[in-house]
Formats: sequence, structure tokens, C-alpha cells
Amino acid sequence: MNTPTIDVRSANAQHMYHPMVDPKVAQQHPPLIMERGEGVHVFDIDGKRYLDTVASLWNVNVGHNRREVIDAITAQLGKLAYYSTFHNTSNPPAIELSARLTAMFAPEKMSKVLFSSGGSDAVETSLKLARQYWKLEGQAERVKFLSLKGGYHGVHFGGASLNGSPAFRTAYEPLMPGCFQIESPYLYRNLWNESDPARLASLCAAELESAILYQGPNTIAAFVAEPVQGAGGVIVPHESYWPQVRAVLDKYGILLISDEIVTGFGRIGAMCGARAWGVAPDIMAMAKGINSGYVPLGATLINERVASAWERPGVPAALMHGYTYSGHALACAAANANLAIVERENLPERSLDTGHYLLERLHELMRYPHVGDVRGKGLMAAVELVVSRESREMLMAYSPYAQALMAAARQEGAIIRVQGNRLILSPPLVFTYDHVDEAMHILHRAFAVAENL
Ligand code: PMP
Repeated sequence: MNTPTIDVRSANAQHMYHPMVDPKVAQQHPPLIMERGEGVHVFDIDGKRYLDTVASLWNVNVGHNRREVIDAITAQLGKLAYYSTFHNTSNPPAIELSARLTAMFAPEKMSKVLFSSGGSDAVETSLKLARQYWKLEGQAERVKFLSLKGGYHGVHFGGASLNGSPAFRTAYEPLMPGCFQIESPYLYRNLWNESDPARLASLCAAELESAILYQGPNTIAAFVAEPVQGAGGVIVPHESYWPQVRAVLDKYGILLISDEIVTGFGRIGAMCGARAWGVAPDIMAMAKGINSGYVPLGATLINERVASAWERPGVPAALMHGYTYSGHALACAAANANLAIVERENLPERSLDTGHYLLERLHELMRYPHVGDVRGKGLMAAVELVVSRESREMLMAYSPYAQALMAAARQEGAIIRVQGNRLILSPPLVFTYDHVDEAMHILHRAFAVAENL
């Protein structure tokens, strides 16, 4: 264990802001300070061990402290930590990664990659490329974006303008004009009180079409959505939803931007979320699982259709977008090693298999009266907490119940997260059935504590 030269707990309280929380509230709930990780477990500064049921922030997919990834980073560090990809220079790990990604997503006809430093960057890059694409295509009036209520696309102004939850928007308005949200295929709570998932999928696809017609089809650049909404509460659509969406977009020539930041690289049981639903997007925004968070990295992939706009001889088409750290050598070296593990260990298939078992076991939680719904796909699941099953009123994260649940789980040795009124599970993809059993044992004990408040 480290002997800190400062008291990290009080220094954290005095100096550090944490994302997505009122600092006053954060003061009352001091963070658990993590020091070390090993596979699916992490250890705090007091040496206590926890099962990481959320892969930190849906991202440490190959697990913590993987030797292969660390070696790749340190080997690269010993050669060249960083060299820019601006101004006619490049570096081998970034080049290797761009080739690896386009090969991995050849079925989706992905053809070019523009790197960045994280998910919000990758979304912003997607939006800018979509707008520039239409200008290069001679349809400069196609500038609007449609997205889903409940969707989450990061924190930059473009992405925040797509976000479909007021919590991420109101403090920062006015946001980018020309962005509109439509209903998402949220079975447990939807406008129509529709309880049949296939009918809900059709209603949502019809709503997309009517929003397109209302806005004017040739004013819309792209529809942006997550294959399964993450922060919005793990909204798993019916299998007919995405093919219907793709068909509507094709009818009007609108681009599909798939926000794969959580779903990319195996989380919902396929190498990307769109593939899990049998559709091919035009643009994919990726981050998180690309290198399991070992070094910050984002990537935006565009397909042949989109890339072709930049390839016309004699048409000036400079990409006036990119970041100092686009193609950071350490981040890309980490990604190459990480993706080699994802492929070698068949993590998408494992995620699907372990995910079935996880979901089956999570349904046991329906025995607790404050559990309203359980849903998931692959290793992405949510347990929706309600005041009562009849009212479906939400039981939020700072309610005594949810706080007791999280505290009891920590006590028992697991990190769990309640986001809004959903308990989210998004463990490393190397989770085994035994880890699921370990998580369930702890969850049952934690729910028993919370129910007996
Ligand atoms: N899109 C989605 C779907 C996300 O879940 C996230 C982050 N959780 C982002 C975008 C933003 O990524 P980042 O926090 O790396 O900027």
C-alpha cells in the first residue's frame, strides 16, 4: 500500500471536483479511493477488495492490470510516447490501429478512421464529419440532427445538444440549434403505454419518419443513437427496431451515426452494437472498450459512402478538425494490445453467453418489491428501482434505499452503481459465471439490507 504524502481523503474533499454531481452532495458522500486493480477486482487505499460490476465506467472490458496491455504501453513509451498526426507526420501504433479497425469493421464497410481522446470527442467528430459530408455532396442545407429521448452522447456542445435527458442539458443551454429528440423504444415507460416490444419498435420507427417529414427530409444530416441506450437506463429495443430505423433513414438518404462508445467491442454480444442488431451504420463513434481505458482514446469510423465525399479529384475537402492527441501513440498501442485480447478471447461471444446467465440470475431480484424491471443484452444490464411496482414511480440514486443498497454492496465487497433510478451492471467482458454468482450473492445481501431499512 502507498504511504501518501498528503491525506488523500481531505485533499479530495478540498480540491477536487467530480463529474456529474453537485459538489455539496459529493462532500457528503466521499468517494472510495481506488489504488490497484487485478482482473475483475479493484482494491481501495485501505486494501479492501471489490468486485467491479461496472468495469469502472462501462469501459475496462479486458479487466484491470492486464500484463499484455501494460507491456504494449511501456514498450511504446520506451520508443516514443507521442508524435502528432498533424502536418504530414504519423506514428506506427496509430497506423496499425486504423488498419485493425477498418478490418474489424469491414462487414460494416468502414473505410477511414479519425482518432480523438474519448467518447465526447468521437461524437463531436462524427457530427462534424456528417455536416462536412453533406456540404461536399452539394447538400449544404442538410445540417440537422435527430436523436433519442434518454440518449447520451457526451458532454461537448454538439453531443450535449443531442442528449435526450434534461439533466445533461439545462445548466448549459442554449445548446446547438437544429437538434431534435424523438421517442425511444423504452418498453417499461413509453408515451403510448405500449407493452408489446415489436409494436413499440414500429411506433418508434413511425415517429422517426414523421419527425423527418416534419423537419423536411433534406434538412437532416443524420440520426444519432446508441444501439442500446446506456446512461439512459439500458434501453434494449426489440430486434425489429434497428432494421426499421435503417430503412426509414435510407428512404430519405439520411446518415446513421451509431454511438458505439459503450456498445463497441463486444459489450452487447457482437463486435459493435449495430452488428448485434443486423444493421450497418454510416459513421461509428467509439471509445471506452477500444483500449479498456488504459489510456484515453476515441475513434470515429466512416464508411465508404461517407469517405467517398473526400475522395473526389479536384474538390478541396480539408478536414478542418482533429485534436493534438488524435492518434496518440500510447493510447493506440494500448488499443492494439487490447483488441488483440478481445479477438483472441472471443469477448463478444463470451459477453453474450455470460450476459444470458447474468440476466437470468438478475430476474431473481424481482422478488424484492422495489424492483420494477430487469433488462439487458450481453454484459449490459439494468435493474429499475421503483417506489412501488403499481405506481412505477422512480426510486432515485440519492434515496435512502439506493444509498443503502450501494453502501451494503460496498460493505460486502462489490462496486455497484445506481444511476438515476437504475442499478446498472456492465462488468468487464472477462466476467465468468462464478463472478456472476459472486455478484448475485452480494446483491441479494444488499437488497435484503435496503428492504429492511
Ligand atoms: N456516448 C456514450 C453512449 C457514452 O456512454 C459516453 C460516456 N459514458 C459518451 C458518449 C461520452 O464519452 P466520454 O465520457 O469518454 O467523453
